[in-house]
Amino acid sequence: MTTLAPGMSRLGTETAFEVLARAAELERQGRDIINLGIGQPDFPTPEHVVEAGIKALRDGHHGYTPAQGILPLREAVAADIAARRGVEVSPERICIMPGGKPTMFFAILMFGAPGAEILYPDPGFPIYRSMIEYTGAQAVPIVLREENGFAFSADEVLAAITPATQLIIVNSPGNPTGGVTPREEVEKLVAGLPPHVAILSDEIYARMLYDGREHVSLLAYPEVRDRLILLDGWSKAYAMTGWRLGYSVWPAGIIEGAVRLCVNSHSCVNAATQYAGIAALEGPQDAVNHMMAAFDERRRLIIPRLQALPGFDCQDPGGAFYAFPNISGTGLDARTMQTRLLEEAGVATIAGPSFGIHADQYIRFSYANSLEKIDQAMTRIGALLSG
Ligand code: PLP
Repeated sequence: MTTLAPGMSRLGTETAFEVLARAAELERQGRDIINLGIGQPDFPTPEHVVEAGIKALRDGHHGYTPAQGILPLREAVAADIAARRGVEVSPERICIMPGGKPTMFFAILMFGAPGAEILYPDPGFPIYRSMIEYTGAQAVPIVLREENGFAFSADEVLAAITPATQLIIVNSPGNPTGGVTPREEVEKLVAGLPPHVAILSDEIYARMLYDGREHVSLLAYPEVRDRLILLDGWSKAYAMTGWRLGYSVWPAGIIEGAVRLCVNSHSCVNAATQYAGIAALEGPQDAVNHMMAAFDERRRLIIPRLQALPGFDCQDPGGAFYAFPNISGTGLDARTMQTRLLEEAGVATIAGPSFGIHADQYIRFSYANSLEKIDQAMTRIGALLSG
């Protein structure tokens, strides 16, 4: 009998992939399933980006690249950060990653160890807690409250910090709630953060904001730049989830550690994808703007429809492409609701508890689907709940 290391029994998962598998199984059985479960844009990658990837392959970019990523891509990222976040960052501090996830994986590996505490958003992306527990560190939830628009309260975060706190993770716009943290809370956090605490700011949805909301990047605060890790990438903004392309900005003192983790794990991101990434950042942005306009239209359809469902109460999400209604008025717990919506109404969603220990009254709807399908899904759920 082989024995796995103890960390493996603490490693969690992302339920979205299980729901996707069950939805696919029901489809194979001939059921018509509307997928509002998966968190990926339903648009293709912009054509010129695909072409740039193909051209790179034809031009012979078939070998390893530097582990940190090719310089022209890191320069394109630096220019994009300067344009969108108004901050000058040296390409030396930028690391190209195979998606957004490896940045959180590496950051948590770097700071997590038995005896350490890491604060993470709850409800939040499930991999944060999973990885913190894997390292043996204590996972301390930052509760995101519905009444605060699912933004963190800086006072609560600062009160939870102890001498053992090594890292805090923040995510705005947030998954699964669509919540956007207001500037005042970010500034209060920055002002009060003790120097021994590093921050991982997951800004993967930075481009996805509604109603004129602004993106407040932690990168804009020089006070924390020596201990801030910024996570961003191409998956959501450019509909490139399957390409596996992301980037991170690291403090000068620890970028070398991040690159060493790259060398020890994936070596580098495949070359053609990196060239596609340059085309995405430097080329026309109309496909991104078109996609965002479509998400906004869907948001304006789904929120009132969710609000009108018996027992549902739904906040207006400021960003990303998720709605996170409170379903306590239905009398059903979230997992039962998820199962009934999928098995009886043929609508895939994800129950709140997949995103944390403070989310059992919520269910996540991803509106990365057509207006027609969203409309049909809401009609089906309405019939189920009032039937
Ligand atoms: N961070 C958040 C908050 C996410 O929701 C996701 C994906 O759903 C990621 C990071 C990971 O992105 P990627 O698919 O690029 O690894």
